[in-house]
Amino acid sequence: MANSKYEYVKQFESDDRLLPDCWLVVRIDGKGFNKFSKRHKFEKPNDRRALYLMNRAAVSVMEEFKDIILAYGQSDEYSFVFRKDTGIYNRRASKITTCLCSLFSSSYVFYWPRAMEGIKLQYPPAFDARAILYPSDESFRDYLIWRQVDCHINNLYNTTFWALIKKGGLSNEEAEKRLKGTVSSDKNEILFSAFGVNYNDEHPMYKKGTILLRKRLNDLRSDKSKIVIIPIHQDFIKQQFWEENPEILGMLKPGTCTWPTDKDLP
Ligand code: ATP
Ligand code: ATP
Ligand code: MG
Ligand code: MG
Ligand code: MG
Ligand code: MG
Ligand code: MG
Repeated sequence: MANSKYEYVKQFESDDRLLPDCWLVVRIDGKGFNKFSKRHKFEKPNDRRALYLMNRAAVSVMEEFKDIILAYGQSDEYSFVFRKDTGIYNRRASKITTCLCSLFSSSYVFYWPRAMEGIKLQYPPAFDARAILYPSDESFRDYLIWRQVDCHINNLYNTTFWALIKKGGLSNEEAEKRLKGTVSSDKNEILFSAFGVNYNDEHPMYKKGTILLRKRLNDLRSDKSKIVIIPIHQDFIKQQFWEENPEILGMLKPGTCTWPTDKDLP
């Protein structure tokens, strides 16, 4: 690159390199998806196709950024977890978040026609992104639990809210009023006694969101193995998930941090 006397302006750029040795999470979230989901007639409470589209866009991101070891998505958001020691873009925050966010957005639009068959995209959707560092394994794990608990709370609310409207004939305002001040067990009870719905039987993708993991699969025909990205719907809050996937937190040995108990479940 040729030098010029104008090159000094480069010094005005700020150094936004992220701390080394920390878990790096980038979370994207749809901008104004309350409106976006209405304009595109998403099924309520959960439009399955729209969730698959989010998952597909997230797979594109994981295919491009190999240092992402895990992703977690629910509603209009996705969290991407980079290896602690990733050196991607010299850990420059804006470079990482913007590249990831724009690839996610363009993939969302690219795969829209396949996922949302018959629904015309009315305007270009946008996503925001932020980078967050977690210095300890425990706070990193609790971040994922936090997002999943958010999924659970919103989904239980939305499932009951839309049952009251679609099956109970209530207006939006009446349903809102009916749910005011209720706790989880009340909502489970409304679903069961008024509509015969057992919340436990709802689709795990709706209740728990989607975890994308890289797994090595043996190809029986060629005798070779390959890495594939697979979606699962499990609980981060249960130790079992971390034990079954030791490649993520291999260093999280028993006794190095405390695990939530049933009391901590909302
Ligand atoms: P912001 O720009 O601040 O993020 P927002 O309108 O996107 O505002 P969120 O809190 O992110 O608000 O909520 C996303 C909204 O998108 C949810 O309330 C939900 O109504 C809707 N939504 C997202 N995905 C789906 C889906 N698969 N099916 C039905 N509705 C969805
Ligand atoms: P990075 O990801 O680091 O930005 P890059 O491959 O995008 O890498 P740039 O320095 O941004 O590299 O250069 C962009 C390149 O894209 C140019 O070298 C040029 O070859 C090509 N390019 C961009 N726009 C045009 C265009 N309109 N016509 C032809 N070539 C183009
Ligand atoms: Mg350029
Ligand atoms: Mg937001
Ligand atoms: Mg949003
Ligand atoms: Mg959101
Ligand atoms: Mg370029």
